[in-house]
Amino acid sequence: MTSPDLRPPTSDLSPAEFVIIGGGAVGCGMAYALAKAGHTDVLVIEKEPSLCNVTSSQGAGLCGQIRSSAERTRLAMFSARTFKELEAAGGPARPNWHAVGSLRLAHSDARVAEFARLKQVSDEVGLEVELIDIGRAKKLWPNMTFAGIQAVLWCPTDGYMDPRSVVRTYEHHSRQLGVRFATDTALAGIELREGRVAAVRTSRGTIDCRFAINAAGAHAYHVAKLVGLELPIVPVRHEYFVSVPLPGMHPGLPVLRIPDIGLYLRADGEGLLVGGWEETAVSTNPTGFGLTDEPPLNADQEVLAGFAERMEPLFPGVRDAASARVAKGWPTFTPDGRFIVGESRRVPGFVMAGGCNAHGISGSPGLGQHLVEALFSPQPSPYIKSLSPDRFDGQTWDWETVRSQAEKIYREYYGIGC
Ligand SMILES: Cc1cc2nc3c(=O)[nH]c(=O)nc-3n(C[C@H](O)[C@H](O)[C@H](O)COP(=O)(O)OP(=O)(O)OC[C@H]3O[C@@H](n4cnc5c(N)ncnc54)[C@H](O)[C@@H]3O)c2cc1C
Repeated sequence: MTSPDLRPPTSDLSPAEFVIIGGGAVGCGMAYALAKAGHTDVLVIEKEPSLCNVTSSQGAGLCGQIRSSAERTRLAMFSARTFKELEAAGGPARPNWHAVGSLRLAHSDARVAEFARLKQVSDEVGLEVELIDIGRAKKLWPNMTFAGIQAVLWCPTDGYMDPRSVVRTYEHHSRQLGVRFATDTALAGIELREGRVAAVRTSRGTIDCRFAINAAGAHAYHVAKLVGLELPIVPVRHEYFVSVPLPGMHPGLPVLRIPDIGLYLRADGEGLLVGGWEETAVSTNPTGFGLTDEPPLNADQEVLAGFAERMEPLFPGVRDAASARVAKGWPTFTPDGRFIVGESRRVPGFVMAGGCNAHGISGSPGLGQHLVEALFSPQPSPYIKSLSPDRFDGQTWDWETVRSQAEKIYREYYGIGC
């Protein structure tokens, strides 16, 4: 059987009820959510020759459920459950879900107090979370020193997956439900009739549709601009490195988050993947490049060396370990740190699914659930309404301020209470 991501682009560009713009984790996740909800007349268009070619391909694949609010914890729980179910479903495409659990380490009194609050939120929504002692943590991660660690929070149902496999899995199950995928098909314009979306113009022709769903990642700003919406969606650079194989590393080790030094880790085969939130966040102004341009992106070796330096006391030898691979991309951030999901009141038929604040892969199942509720529930919850693109409607932006707000959200990703 042909691997789903090697299939030729569909030649069927006939009208669809929903056209999804962007074939990353978010676009494919939205296709899967719509199809599962019974809305199968869906066409995903992707400008690249294959799906998952841009930001999603670079993801570390972490899926953490411990969050500071009940809503966000529930969303993350739904995501972890979905990856687990898709893995268990078997078949030719699976997310490669590793249910290894996660450890979160505290270096400070303030962080210890935050862990107690996080545990309270987890208890409230039924997420299994436990404060464990260093001895037990050491059994779970034998080659970690735990030097200076004051508390450890353990979540046994957390894990990680392979982002490319996640997208292939969404594609496989969606195709079986009737969804079409067209790669090498770039959006060029959106046609409105009497104020509502009527068609999308692409490099391969015009496609009539009732809904255009914007899942264009770092180009989501530009796609929204095509219908006159100016949404504050800011790409902020993110990167990690994977070391060469190191003694004691294996894929069954739990994910580690060390918020006081802004780092996350997991095993990548027998290598160590180390990513982090940069103290000097680097954003790019979306108004400074166009729909058909790619913002330049270089890995910053100095920043990556800084991650290794910060890890050295906990994992001696990582500073001198050679790097086997570096990943980098432009995940998008919003000034309030929240997803943008739902139909625009001003442009009926234009729907947002973006502004993922660097958890678009792990968040994609939950985001799909939000999309379905936003579009079809007669009474969406106040939380879902609060994620609507309408919250930014009519605002004019000072882009330097928007960028600095988005960079702050990035820097404080592991901030206390975030
Ligand atoms: C180094 C790194 C590590 C990360 N780690 C994690 C992690 O552990 N867990 C997690 O959940 N998230 C992680 N993220 C964030 C995650 O990668 C993003 O949130 C997610 O990939 C966003 O998905 P997307 O589908 O919106 O964007 P993309 O994957 O970028 O998809 C958007 C798609 O839209 C297409 N497109 C754009 N313009 C057009 C057009 N005109 N016509 C047609 N198609 C178009 C693009 O080609 C692209 O394929 C990480 C990101 C990076 C960079």
